[in-house]
Amino acid sequence: MYLVSIGLEVHVQLRTRSKMFCACAVEYGAEPNTRTCPVCLGLPGALPVMNGEAIKLTLLTGLMLGCRLASFSKFDRKNYFYPDMPKNYQISQYDLPFCSGGAVELYDLAYPKDAQKRIAQPGKSIRLTRIHLEEDVAKSTHFETGSGIDFNRAGTPLMEIVSEPDIASPEEAFAYLTSLKQTLLYGGVSDADMEKGQLRCDCNVSVRPAGQEQLGTKIEIKNMNTISGVRRALAYEIERQIEEVSAGRTLQQETRGWDDAAGATYVMRVKESAHDYRYFPDPDLPPVDTTALRAAAEALLPELPGAKRRRYEESLGLSTYDATTLASDLSLSRYFEGALAAGQAKPKALANWVLNDLNAALAAAEQPLTECRVQPAALAGLLAILESGQINGKQAKEVFAEMFASGREAAAIVQERGLEQVSDTGALEQLCAEVVAANPKVVADFRGGNAAALNFLKGQVMKLSKGKANPAIAGEILARQLAAGA
Ligand code: ZN
Ligand code: MN
Repeated sequence: MYLVSIGLEVHVQLRTRSKMFCACAVEYGAEPNTRTCPVCLGLPGALPVMNGEAIKLTLLTGLMLGCRLASFSKFDRKNYFYPDMPKNYQISQYDLPFCSGGAVELYDLAYPKDAQKRIAQPGKSIRLTRIHLEEDVAKSTHFETGSGIDFNRAGTPLMEIVSEPDIASPEEAFAYLTSLKQTLLYGGVSDADMEKGQLRCDCNVSVRPAGQEQLGTKIEIKNMNTISGVRRALAYEIERQIEEVSAGRTLQQETRGWDDAAGATYVMRVKESAHDYRYFPDPDLPPVDTTALRAAAEALLPELPGAKRRRYEESLGLSTYDATTLASDLSLSRYFEGALAAGQAKPKALANWVLNDLNAALAAAEQPLTECRVQPAALAGLLAILESGQINGKQAKEVFAEMFASGREAAAIVQERGLEQVSDTGALEQLCAEVVAANPKVVADFRGGNAAALNFLKGQVMKLSKGKANPAIAGEILARQLAAGA
C-alpha cells in the first residue's frame, strides 16, 4: 500500500490590458514581437513601473480563496539565465508574497465524470501555501533548423498559486484545477484558457509506503496545459514510481515532461542540487503598501461558487445536482438568473430547461452559449406560455427548437403555427362525448374499476383534436362525463 502526495504550482495569466511592468498591450495571437518595448525586451537601462490592476486582481484571488493578504509586500529578482528572459532575472516575489494560506474546496462535480461515484474524501479542501505575482517570460518555438522567440508574452502579469502537497490522487488534482479555474473565472481575474497558455501547471508528486511519515522523493512534471493531461500524467507517474520503489530501486529527484501522444513521462533533467536563484529585492521597484488596492479588491468580491450553489438549493429549491451544475458554469448561471429575473418562471422548471433543453441544443449545434439566439428573456417568455396552458410540454419543445434555430419569439411561433391549445370547454365537451360514444368497451372497463382506462380515452381526445386539446381540461371533462353516465 502506497500513499501519494501531490502539490501543484499553477501559473495564471491575469486579465489586464497592459503588461506587468510596462504599457505594452497583453494580447494573445498578435503578430510575434509587435507588443514589445525596452522594458519587456529587457534592454539595459529600461525601468519597470508596476501595474496596480494586476496587484488588485492578485489580492482579489487571495480574498476569494481565503488567504491572508500581506499589508506590505515587495518584488524580488530571481536570477537565472535562459534565452526567453534576456535580462537574466525574472521579477517575482520571494519572502513577502501578496497572499499566503487559504484553500481550494473540491466539490463532487469538479471530479472527472467517471470518478464522481467513488470520491475518496467528499468535501475535501486543499490548502494553499502562497500566491505571488511575477512576470511571464517570452515564448520560444522550436523549428527544424532553429528556434524562434516571441516577446509579446514577456512581461505578462503572471500569478503563481502554490498548493500544499494535500492532493492524494490524479482525480483530486483534476478536481482542484477545475474548482480553482471556476473561482478565477468568477472573479474575472483571468480567462484561464489552458489552450492559450493562460493557465499552466507544474505537478510535484511523490509516493511512500503507508505508515511512513516522511514524504518520498519529489518528482516534478513540468508545464502541463490540460486538466485531463494532468490526470493522465499523474496516473502514469504514480504507477511508475510505485513500480520502481517496490522493486527496491531508489528514485532520484528529477524534472520530467509529459508526452501526451505516448502517454508517458520522460526525464528532462536530473536535479543535482537546489537552484540558487540569489533572490534579492528589485532595486528598481518600491515596496508596496497594499491598503488601497485591498479595499479596491474587496469591492470586486463576487458571490463565490459555493455560496451560489447553496443559494440555488436553499432559496430557489433546486436539487443539489442542478444547483451545482448551474453554479459551476458562470455563463450558464448568468443565463439562468437572467431568465429568472425576466419572467415568473418557477426556478425548478427553468433550471430543467436550461440544463436539459438549452444545453442539449447547444451541444448538438456545437455552439457556445455566447452565440445562442434564444435570449434569457425569450426563454422566460416560452415558459410563461407553457405555464398558462396555451401549449403543452411537447409543443413547447417544438417551439423551443424553432426559437433556437431562428431566434424568433415564442409567442410569434405559437400564433403562426396555430398551436394554441383548445381550452374552450364547449369544444372539448363535444370531443370528449364523441370519444366516450366511440369506445364503449374502454368505458365499461373504466366503470369496472380500471382507472388507467381514462388515460386511453384522454389519448383519443388528444388525437381527435390533433394534439391541440388541453390535456388537463380534457381529463376533467372525461371524468365528469363518465361519472355522470354511470
Ligand atoms: Zn513592454
Ligand atoms: Mn513562477
